[in-house]
Amino acid sequence: MKVMVAVKRVVDYAVKIRVKPDKSGVETSNVKMSMNPFCEIALEEALRIREAGAAAEVVAVSVGPAQCVDTLRTALAMGADRAVHVDVGAAPVLPLSVAKILKALVQVEQPGLLILGKQAIDDDCNQTGQMVAGLLRWPQGTFASKVVLDKEKQEATVEREVDGGIETLSLDLPAVITTDLRLNQPRYATLPNIMKAKSKVIKKVTPADLNVELKPDLEVVQVTEPPKRKAGVIVSSVDELIDKLKNEAHIL
Ligand code: AMP
Repeated sequence: MKVMVAVKRVVDYAVKIRVKPDKSGVETSNVKMSMNPFCEIALEEALRIREAGAAAEVVAVSVGPAQCVDTLRTALAMGADRAVHVDVGAAPVLPLSVAKILKALVQVEQPGLLILGKQAIDDDCNQTGQMVAGLLRWPQGTFASKVVLDKEKQEATVEREVDGGIETLSLDLPAVITTDLRLNQPRYATLPNIMKAKSKVIKKVTPADLNVELKPDLEVVQVTEPPKRKAGVIVSSVDELIDKLKNEAHIL
C-alpha cells in the first residue's frame, strides 16, 4: 500500500507575522518559511506506518509556487520515498483548489491512505482534508490523535479527541486522515539525509496536467492586525478589582 501525504509550505511558526501595508495579506517575502507543523505530524505518521510494515511507499505532495520544492526536500530528508510538486506559480492556493488537485493526484497514484494536517497555520482553514474526502467519497478520520492500521482487514482505527472524551472510528481503506497535535512527535531530518535529499528528483506537474482548473471561489477582502492590547493596571485590593470589573469592564 502507498501513503500519500500533503505538505504545505507556510510562514514558520516562530516568525512574528506582519500584515502587508495594502492589507492584501501577510508579508511572505524575506520571511522564513517551513513545512506546516501539522503536515510534519502527518508525514511522521506515514513514515511510522511504512516502518511498521503496513505501507510500502510514502509520497509527499505540495501545491504552490516553485519554492515548495524546499518543503518537499525536507519531506524527502525526513524519509519520504518520493515527492510531487504541483506548480501553480503565483496563483493563490485555496482549500477547494488544493482538494481538487489532491483528488486528481490520488486518481493517478492510487494510495490506500491520504494523510493531511488538520489545518495550515497560515490561513487556519481546516477545510482541505474534509473537502478532498468529500470529493473522493472516501471515509474520513479528522483530528486524529491515534491511528492503527489493520493491513489484513484493510481498516484504519482512528482515535480523535472530542469534547468530553475520545471518539474511536473504524474506517475502511482507502481513507483520508487529518492529524492533530498529539498524534506523534515528528523526527528531525539528519544531516546525511538532508544531503541525500538534495539529489533526489522531485516530479513536477501543473494543474492543467491533472485537468484541474484553478477557479478562485473566494476573495480575501482585507487582512488587518488585531487591535493592540491596552496596558494592564495593578489594583491594590480585591474590592477595587471587583469595582473595576463591575463598573469599568462591565463583566460582573
Ligand atoms: P487547510 O485546510 O488550509 O487548513 O490545510 C489543511 C491541510 O491540507 C494542511 O495541513 C495540508 O496537509 C493540506 N494542504 C493545504 N494546502 C496545501 C498545499 N498548498 N499543498 C499541500 N498540502 C496542502
